[in-house]
Amino acid sequence: KMNKDIGQHILINPGIVDRIIDKAALKQSDVVLEVGPGTGNLTMKILENARKVVAVEMDPRMAAELTKRVQGKPVERKLELMLGDVIKTELPYFDVCISNTPYQISSPLVFKLLALPTPPRMCVLMFQKEFADRLTAQPGDAFYSRLSANVQMWSKVTHVMKVGKGNFKPPPQVESAVVKIEPKFPRPTVSYEEWDGMLRILFIRKNKTISAVFGLSTVQVLIERNYRTWCAQNDIPLDTEEDGDVEMGGEVEEVVADNDVMEGLEGVDDDDLPRGYHEIMSESRGAKKQGKRKYRGKVAELVRSKVKRVLEETDLANRRAAKCDQGDFLNLLYSFNKEGIHFN
Ligand code: SAM
Repeated sequence: KMNKDIGQHILINPGIVDRIIDKAALKQSDVVLEVGPGTGNLTMKILENARKVVAVEMDPRMAAELTKRVQGKPVERKLELMLGDVIKTELPYFDVCISNTPYQISSPLVFKLLALPTPPRMCVLMFQKEFADRLTAQPGDAFYSRLSANVQMWSKVTHVMKVGKGNFKPPPQVESAVVKIEPKFPRPTVSYEEWDGMLRILFIRKNKTISAVFGLSTVQVLIERNYRTWCAQNDIPLDTEEDGDVEMGGEVEEVVADNDVMEGLEGVDDDDLPRGYHEIMSESRGAKKQGKRKYRGKVAELVRSKVKRVLEETDLANRRAAKCDQGDFLNLLYSFNKEGIHFN
C-alpha cells in the first residue's frame, strides 16, 4: 500500500530519529517545518522538542494516519498539517527544517529552502547518499559539481551520517545520508541567477580548462547573446554591421566546433546546462545543414576580447571548475560583470 513513486520509505530506526533531532539542536521556542511527515515517526519527536511543527504531506492517507496519531494528545495543538506538494506550497515562517526527504524532490527542495526571504537557521535533511555526497563535496573531490558550488555559496553544508537501506520500511534501492545545511545569514549579496548562470557554463565540462569552456562556440554564442541583451537594456549602441548568415565557404568561423560537448558530459544532465544551450546547438546545426554559417561579426569579436581580458585578469584561464572554490568563482563573476557580461 506504500506509494513508492513519491518516495514513501518510513524511517523505522528510533536511534536515527534521535540523532536527527539531536543534530537539529532544537529550541523549545522553534517553529519546525517537516517535509513529508509520513506516519509521523520524526514528527512525534519534533513535537516534543519544539513550539510548533508545520508538516507538509502530499499523501492524504499519510496525513490521516498522522492526524490519528496525535489525536487527543497534548501535542496535537502544536501540529499544523498542510496537505499538498511542498514545492508548490507557500511556506510560513519556520526556524528549522527537518525532512526524511522524498528523493525525487531533493534538488528543488534545497533551492526552495535557500531562496526563502527569511531562510531557516538550520536544516537537517536525509537524502540519497549520492546527492548528499554532491552537496558536501569540496573542490577537487570526485563529486564536486554545480550543485556543490551552488549550495555552498548560500549555506554551510556538513555531512552528518550514512544511513543504510535497512533502516527504512520498505527499504529503498539506494543508500542514504543525513546532511546539515545552515543558510548563510545575512545572505551573500550576489544574484542567484548570475551565479547559477555562470556555474552552468563552467560545469558543462568541469575538467576542461576554463579558457577551453569559454572557447566552445556554443558558449560564445550564448555569451554574445547575453551581452547583446544587456546592451539593449542599458541603451549601449552596438556595431552590428557585419552580422548575419553567409553561405559556407567564405571567411567564416565554425559555430559548432565542439560536437562532443553533448556527448560524455561528465555527470551533467540537460537540467544542468545553461538556459538556451540546446536551442543554440540546434540553430547552429540547422544553419550548417542549409550550407550557412553565422558570420561572427564585430560584436562576437568584442565579446571574445572581453572574455580573454577577464581570464587574464583573474588568472583563471588554465584552471578547471572541478578545482575552483567560491573565491575563484566570485572573482570570475565580478570580472565578467565589470566587462558588461552577465549570465542571467
Ligand atoms: N518522514 C517519514 C519518515 O521518516 O518515516 C516519511 C518519509 S518518506 C521518505 C517521504 C514522505 O514524503 C512520504 O510520506 C510522502 O508521501 C511524502 N511526499 C512525497 N512527495 C512529497 C511532496 N512533494 N510534498 C510533500 N510530501 C511529499
